[in-house]
Order: sequence, then C-alpha cells, then structure tokens
Amino acid sequence: MQLHLLSWPEVETYLAKSKTILIPIGSTEQHGPTGLMGTDAICAEVIGGRAGDEAGIMVAPTFNVGQAQHHMAFPGTMTLRPSTMIAAMVDWARSLSHHGFERLYWLNGHGGNIATMTAAFSEIYHGASMSEAKGSRLLCRMRNWWELPGVGDTCLQFFPVGEGHHATPSEISVTYYAYPHARKQAALEPKIAPFGPINDAADYRRRFPDGRIGSDPSQANPEAGEKIVAAAVKAVVEELRSFAEEKEEKA
Ligand SMILES: [Zn+2]
Repeated sequence: MQLHLLSWPEVETYLAKSKTILIPIGSTEQHGPTGLMGTDAICAEVIGGRAGDEAGIMVAPTFNVGQAQHHMAFPGTMTLRPSTMIAAMVDWARSLSHHGFERLYWLNGHGGNIATMTAAFSEIYHGASMSEAKGSRLLCRMRNWWELPGVGDTCLQFFPVGEGHHATPSEISVTYYAYPHARKQAALEPKIAPFGPINDAADYRRRFPDGRIGSDPSQANPEAGEKIVAAAVKAVVEELRSFAEEKEEKA
C-alpha cells in the first residue's frame, strides 16, 4: 500500500480508517567497492514496503538523500546540509498532517541521519508546542532497522566475523536480495577493513581508502538478505500495529 501508487480518493478512504503512515528514510552514499550507492534507502524501502503491506499501513515515498557529508570524497555520494534536511522533513510532516495523518513512523536506514532526524522531530513538535492550539496530535517515531528485535541476531548468525560498521555484509545482502542483478564483485584489500573515527570527507577517505569501515562485504549474499528482511519486517509489523493503536500518549 504505497502512497505513490494510490489515487487521492483511495488516500481519502484510507484516512477514514487509519492516521498512520510509514516513511522509509535513508541516504545515497558510497558503500565500498561492492555496495550500491542506494543501500541505506533501499534497505528502509524494502523492509518498510513489505511491512506496510503486511500491516495494512500506508507507505510514503522514500526520503532517499540524507546526511552523508563524510562520504563526499567518493563519487556519486549526495548529501543534504542538516538545516536543509530538517526543513525538508518538516515540510514532509506538515504535508501529511495537513491531510490528517497523525502518526509518522520513520524507518531509518542510515546511522548518519539520526542526529538530524532527532533535531527535525524537535522542529516538528516546536510548531505544535508554541501554537495557540496548545499541541497537536502529530506523533513521530524513528526506528533504525538494524536495531529492530531479532535483526541483530539474524545478522550475527550469517556474519559472525566482518560485520563492521559501514558497507556491512548484512545491509549489502539486503540490497542483493532486492536487486539481484545489481550484485557486484571486487577484490577487497584488506579482507576486513579498519575501524576508526569519522571526521570530514577527506579524512574519511584517508582512513578508509575503499570506503568500508570494519567490514568484509564479500560475504554478502541474497539468501542472507532474504532472512534479514523477514526478521525486520516481522518486527516492524508488530511495532506499526501498536504505534497505530497508541492513544494520545506521546513517546
Ligand atoms: Zn549503510
């Protein structure tokens, strides 16, 4: 049940029975020599799309460019400034709430988005907190897909060594499952990439010359991706149902 495939009368009918929508949110950034640029957006979109169908919850278009300044030394990466991303998220939320959506479940695929998303939620609530109406019904929830119950265990089962922090075999498996024809091969040296801090883009490329952090994505495969997606979808469906039913309580 994806918004961009519905007509307005169908959206109107949906709003008469539910006020909840899931928004996949990710990034367009390098994911090492074998990972797709769209990895973080694809993971959120695939898991969110399927969970929305199973839970009967509408899914918004994917917010697919996020906070990726530290990846800008690699061609193809796109980034928003934090201020731009906050402004865009506020406008997405306002557009949806204008029509009656009250519960926005943002399914996030990129760790670098978290701080800016948190600030955007404050900006979204700020309007309601300062208004004459003394509050609104709009409630936002952020969920990082890799932290969903059951997902970490599934990833560990497939990749006990070399999961790492960026361009992980788990997230790349999800994209290979979603787009098997986009699967890539490259020699990875060293086999497991180094760990280290993240600063600006030039520093990142110096520390992590091929883009990976701590990972060995040569292990990625569609079969693991299918199992990881299944675990994540199960958890999102459960959360979506309780989020949609929560009364006035703000979390
Ligand atoms: Zn990623």
